[in-house]
Amino acid sequence: MRRGRITLVPWVAAVGVALAATACGEPAPGASGIASVSGPGARLSASGQVSQAAKDSALAQAGPETRLATPLSSAVVEIHEGDRAVVTVASASTSRGEQVAVQGVITQLLFSCVGGCGTSESDNVGISTTIGPAPADGTLEFILPLAAGGTGLARVSGAYPSYTVEMDDGLVDRDFNDVVLSVEITPAKDDCDLFQGPVSDPLLQNNDIQKALFELFQDSHPDAPNVHDRVEMAGYIVEQDGKLGFVPAGSNQSPQICSSTFTPSDLPAGAKLEGFVHTHPHDAGDPLPADGSCLGKSSGRFGDGASDADVAAALNSSVPTYVVDRDHVHRLPPFFNNSMFGTAADTASFVRNPNANCQ
Ligand SMILES: [Zn+2]
Repeated sequence: MRRGRITLVPWVAAVGVALAATACGEPAPGASGIASVSGPGARLSASGQVSQAAKDSALAQAGPETRLATPLSSAVVEIHEGDRAVVTVASASTSRGEQVAVQGVITQLLFSCVGGCGTSESDNVGISTTIGPAPADGTLEFILPLAAGGTGLARVSGAYPSYTVEMDDGLVDRDFNDVVLSVEITPAKDDCDLFQGPVSDPLLQNNDIQKALFELFQDSHPDAPNVHDRVEMAGYIVEQDGKLGFVPAGSNQSPQICSSTFTPSDLPAGAKLEGFVHTHPHDAGDPLPADGSCLGKSSGRFGDGASDADVAAALNSSVPTYVVDRDHVHRLPPFFNNSMFGTAADTASFVRNPNANCQ
């Protein structure tokens, strides 16, 4: 018996290439399921598994274009609407420069070259890309497009939200290490957490409104180095089809650093006005621009909360007015009147959460 030179090769049929071609003068395959493999690498390990070197040797001799007709497996991971995925090349071990792509609820090329792209088999290890947000619940399938057409092999381990994807070009060794990806899903936030705690105002309790106010303030560029780039943005809280929503003001198209404009025609048909919103992107205590670009004033400092002009407008408003600044959302009630209700400083101020992330 030449036990040391005999091994089970159950994948032969799937490969579709007769290993007789690799026998190099050895006897033809013997009993069913047993083939003889020659070559210096063909040895049984102590556990009875053929060594990796033996598999590589046999397949290498079968020819570089040996490829499975259908993938052994695929790398499909779960993703939910609004999630993002951070995809990082954890390792690469191929002399070919491989493309890596994803298809499913998001379809795009992830990396144009991983592996042998110029200097080594591990070129571009460590590069990372973020995809999403996913437009719907579904799956992502990671694929290795092959230059000759079709895709390589892939398999996945892990569970939501952390996965490892191992990919192989399907040529020669099939050890699933040509490209290894780590995939970290960043779940969508269900809550905006705009405020430090629960708020008593029914409109501000709505998560979509919190997100809209957060984004409106971001769009005001409160951290822009040039004071003229910090602009007031405005909009409307509306109810439409039984749902609360946010409609931006037309004046946002040409925003000003110290004013914004509400125009009835901004509201779409069927939208019922529930509240006015605008931002104060300048921090309290900051000096007014000296060139008079803030409503003609050239000296003085920005204040906190609603301005005199805001109070005057609220006096005639049947819905609440909200002013979003860096630290608060100030609320003026309908028909706010200083003489009846006190000063603007007495109105409700909801404290913003500095760590809110409503993206
Ligand atoms: Zn204002």
